[in-house]
Amino acid sequence: MNDFSVHRIIGRGGFGEVYGCRKADTGKMYAMKCLDKKRIKMKQGETLALNERIMLSLVSTGQDCPFIVCMTYAFHTPDKLCFILDLMNGGDLHYHLSQHGVFNETEMKFYAAEVILGLEHMHRRYIVYRDLKPANILLDEHGHVRISDLGLACDFSKKKPHASVGTHGYMAPEVLSKGTAYDSSADWFSFGCMLYKLLKGHSPFRQHKTKDKHEIDRMTLTMNVELPDSFSKELKSLLEGLLQRDIDKRLGCKGQGSDEVKEHPFFAGIDWQQVYLQKYTPPLIPPRGEVNAADAFDIGSFDEEDTKGIKLTDADQELYKNFPLVISERWQNEVAETVFETVNFEADKTEHKKRAKQKKLYDIDEKGI
Ligand code: ADP
Ligand code: MG
Repeated sequence: MNDFSVHRIIGRGGFGEVYGCRKADTGKMYAMKCLDKKRIKMKQGETLALNERIMLSLVSTGQDCPFIVCMTYAFHTPDKLCFILDLMNGGDLHYHLSQHGVFNETEMKFYAAEVILGLEHMHRRYIVYRDLKPANILLDEHGHVRISDLGLACDFSKKKPHASVGTHGYMAPEVLSKGTAYDSSADWFSFGCMLYKLLKGHSPFRQHKTKDKHEIDRMTLTMNVELPDSFSKELKSLLEGLLQRDIDKRLGCKGQGSDEVKEHPFFAGIDWQQVYLQKYTPPLIPPRGEVNAADAFDIGSFDEEDTKGIKLTDADQELYKNFPLVISERWQNEVAETVFETVNFEADKTEHKKRAKQKKLYDIDEKGI
């Protein structure tokens, strides 16, 4: 924990907070996602927390993926589990959808293309993400996106999952059907729901803003989605392909995986190498200096009283003995990136001193909030 200077809170999840932070030795900025061990125990979330650490380590090793919020370090203190993650300062797509209004086909295509490469990275590692929706797509300061929050992701290499997990309105029929085993097919269906939401403002299976989960699930299992005439021919065909109830007929599930989606006529003319290099211009640049979340106050705070009766035992701590991890190639990259900056710095000593002083003031300022 002492290797980082912790800045302001930038989000809140089920088991704790997410902060902006700076690694003290290299100066690199990250997000620090902290899970409270007592809160985990209270909600019996031990398996979920350990699963997130495993999924993060699986996606964060090997070839770098610019479209997933990856982890560089994991560590714990007596009270907290901490993930050090790629920092995404620009808010999430659910928030931006509410601010910007619905996206047009061209704008949606940008997000779709980057998310496809994120899903491809997971599926190649036999991981199904299971919770694709706009709220889990985070923007960086330039407007490029990454899939975030691997809490529900699942390794299907040895055994296919059959649990109904995800968000109503995005879960595939096979996920909703009790006892049915599924794999990456689930993500392509959710992907279709997400694209529809970006274009129309609601999931195709959530009509009249209903809060009735059973109604939404029933729609997912039975309704044939009517696509508006305003959609182009290619878009209609893409969504019809992704929203197929029958897995064998669904785009992305016929044996060629993400290539089936990438080669669909809707994406004709897209240079996927250029997508990978983040060369396409994002449709939306998050306003600088704003919170870009549903209001800083909405983040709220946990009631400390909740976990007062919870005591952590040696057996609880034993669960986390293999938690700490350094992804060595990512650590090496961090050092390489930042040493290079320092060399440039040295060229101008006065600038260096000025910046160091500013940084110090900034850190104090941020800690005060
Ligand atoms: P949970 O698993 O408990 O749902 P999340 O991973 O979704 O927690 O994080 C909670 C919130 O914190 C998110 O909605 C988002 O606003 C923010 N957040 C999470 N990860 C990052 C990140 N890498 N960069 C910036 N903000 C983040
Ligand atoms: Mg979340």
